Amino acid sequence: MTTADTLDARPTALPDVPSTMLIGGTWSPAADGRTFAVENPATGEELAVIADGGQADAARAIEAAAAAQEQWARTAPRARSEILRRAFDLVLERRDRLARIMTAEMGKPLTEAKGEVTYAAEFLRWFSEEAVRISGDHTTTGDGTNRIIVTREPVGPCILITPWNFPLAMGARKIAPALAAGCTVVLKPAEQTPLTTLALAAIMEEAGVPAGVLNVVTTTDAPTVVTAWMRSGKARKISFTGSTEVGKILLRQAADTVMRTSMELGGNAPFIVCADADIDIAVEGAMVAKMRNMGEACTAANRMYVHRDIAGEFSERLARRMSALQVGNGLDDGIEVGPLIDGDGRGKVQRLVDDAVARGARTLTGGVLPDGPGYFYPPTVLTEVPVDADLMQTEIFGPVAPVIPFTDEDEIVRIANDTDWGLVGYVFTRDVDRAFDLSERLEVGMVGVNTGLVSNPAAPFGGVKQSGLGREGGKIGIDEFLEYKYLAVPRRRGA
Ligand code: NAD
Repeated sequence: MTTADTLDARPTALPDVPSTMLIGGTWSPAADGRTFAVENPATGEELAVIADGGQADAARAIEAAAAAQEQWARTAPRARSEILRRAFDLVLERRDRLARIMTAEMGKPLTEAKGEVTYAAEFLRWFSEEAVRISGDHTTTGDGTNRIIVTREPVGPCILITPWNFPLAMGARKIAPALAAGCTVVLKPAEQTPLTTLALAAIMEEAGVPAGVLNVVTTTDAPTVVTAWMRSGKARKISFTGSTEVGKILLRQAADTVMRTSMELGGNAPFIVCADADIDIAVEGAMVAKMRNMGEACTAANRMYVHRDIAGEFSERLARRMSALQVGNGLDDGIEVGPLIDGDGRGKVQRLVDDAVARGARTLTGGVLPDGPGYFYPPTVLTEVPVDADLMQTEIFGPVAPVIPFTDEDEIVRIANDTDWGLVGYVFTRDVDRAFDLSERLEVGMVGVNTGLVSNPAAPFGGVKQSGLGREGGKIGIDEFLEYKYLAVPRRRGA
């Protein structure tokens, strides 16, 4: 394994992070020798210089995955399971190191990064358990003349594309079910956060993943690499997590080869607090649903609809909690809010806040860009946000909580559903009937009832409408990587 050998001399000191790509069991530089720099968004400092893969590297990677497919599919489920289980142990053993890498390249505070390591590891454990539970079906035709035997087989080589916001968890959430099902993979991480993925790939290799089963190509030219895979004729499935915009491009490309797709796309989560809600629980839920990952989460509460009777108290308490948060370099002790990922991300947040304020929203805290290096944005609470503000229909992806008072519950359900997205919604109420009623009426794939956190490896994660297709995790997570095959076997002795 080649390492970025100057890293230890740098202030953020990332030990032993690979700087090359894993292709066919070999750590390789880009065929044309190109490289790119990875930066810390809190300081702008260069963390590493790594391989910038192109078309030739993409071709080698998908060929390696295709060549390894048959053998991996034949590998005993227990053997596949034990590799994943070893990877689970290794990821937890290296928790602090992985967390430092993630914080350095992505910005989230170390405590959150450590939480993500545990979350990611749990996907490896969950799917190590699922690898040995792939079952089929056996029945007879209605007229009794044929046996129907249904088996399930790996779909074949898969393209996995991950975003920068949860670099370790999104990688593990795709690699683990794919490998458990018997699929080989080519993986392209986001260019902002490739180091975490490379570190994970090295761990998977150490855990015993055979050459060619997991291939990673890092690149600044996602369209070239991914298009090469889509058109290779060798990939059978694409699993993508990222923006709805890019998801649509990939869905169009997938149509050309009728490729199977799983799409985990953007969100615009409504967060509804009813008049009878426990305000302590609602404020706590809002802090989690809004501030996890600095608001850079597809599950982030994007629109907080709070009953007018309690909207004032809720907003003030939320603003007090938000303004007390420690903002800074996530690698430093006690930091609770890190920088946003880059200048574009921060510029978008500022534009959305300015638009809401221009339309009449009041700023209770935050809303002003700080001076100095790093892409920091202050935790912000806006109240009396009008429903026509741009942030009502845009994924904010930052630490901004817009509070919109309401009085009519039916009206608020209609407004909450008036969006192209449908990933997650949150409902806060003490009334069980109201909780079920609102949960059922929200057009989303997941609902947090009196909680701001829904993500769990044992649960099916995913959305409806333009938030995606398919589910990751839970009992059905492995289905995304399996095909059905039906065998018709006549019963010679008759019915
Ligand atoms: P993005 O769509 O810009 O990028 C995602 C990945 O796609 C990256 O690896 C990127 O390099 C790649 N990519 C970009 N253009 C491409 C192209 N033309 N062809 C092929 N690949 C391309 O998204 P992002 O900014 O990295 O991530 C943020 C988005 O991800 C948000 O919208 C967020 O809601 C979403 N997200 C969704 C989930 C979920 O499970 N639903 C989880 C995390 C993030």
